[in-house]
Amino acid sequence: MPLDPYKTLGVSRTATADEIKKAYRKLARSYHPDHNPDNAAAEEKFKAVSTAYEILSDDDKRARFDKFGVAGLQDGFDPRAAGPTARPGTRGAASGGADLKDLFDLFGAGSPFGGAGGGFGGFAPRPKGPTPGSQLDLKIRIRFDQAARGLTTKFQYERPTACPACSGRGISGNAACSRCRGQGLIAESKSLSVNIPSGADNGDKLRIKGKGGDGIGGAAAGDLMLEVQVEPHRTLRRDGISLITSATIGPIDALLGCDASVETLDGLTPVPIPPGHSAGHRVRVAGKGVTRGGKTGDLLVEVTVDASRQPLLDLEARALAEKLRDLVAKR
Ligand SMILES: [Zn+2]
Repeated sequence: MPLDPYKTLGVSRTATADEIKKAYRKLARSYHPDHNPDNAAAEEKFKAVSTAYEILSDDDKRARFDKFGVAGLQDGFDPRAAGPTARPGTRGAASGGADLKDLFDLFGAGSPFGGAGGGFGGFAPRPKGPTPGSQLDLKIRIRFDQAARGLTTKFQYERPTACPACSGRGISGNAACSRCRGQGLIAESKSLSVNIPSGADNGDKLRIKGKGGDGIGGAAAGDLMLEVQVEPHRTLRRDGISLITSATIGPIDALLGCDASVETLDGLTPVPIPPGHSAGHRVRVAGKGVTRGGKTGDLLVEVTVDASRQPLLDLEARALAEKLRDLVAKR
């Protein structure tokens, strides 16, 4: 029990909940056991900082400390016996206890504790019954071509893992386990290989069974939900399993037909444009789209006609074009 939780966190007695949280996060980050392996002094500091935050982040405990000092925090403390002026805390919004979620935020790992939280409300450690592991929600960002073709990739993520110091029980002797702060779980960096199927699309979610948080007391681990985010391509687009690309051709080629060079997943590929192309018409190449769930889509080529591609630069070219126009007009 620190003598003065304000001193421990280095904040003034009038500090707001936000200032207290900031101070706590900064200190907890520098003293966290994961960052200071086998450093007993850091562990002591970490414990002191955590205890101080438990007091100051709880309106009631903070008010009791303000009124009565350390005595106000003892189990069984009766404010009426201590004095007639004791009132419950009146300090605006409650900020909740110092649960482990705060710590995970410190490391920028999202909130792997999801639903399985479990606060750290009282001072008395309590063993946990079997608690299923939490579901982890992560996002994975992949390139457009990787999504279209599918890929196997390996990545690192922070996974709530049964605390090795207390075997996930959360208690050590009669006290809360200091390694996991009584939560039974610690953040461990794990690597995982996943297979993202071909045709994966933006917002797709993959459920990877048992790769979320560890369960406690023999309960099953949670699942990992992996949301796929696909980077846009410079030129290609997707519409389901259709792959959309574009081509620009000149007016003579539009009349006569041509092989246009278009960008596909395999690089520049010649695609035959039939004669008499009209602006706005899309040329379909069957089976050259994206394969998803056993179905393969088409490649759609949006063809733009641009006169500057085939300018009539000399008199002869112009004369021929005029002759052609007259010929077509006669029919
Ligand atoms: Zn532990």
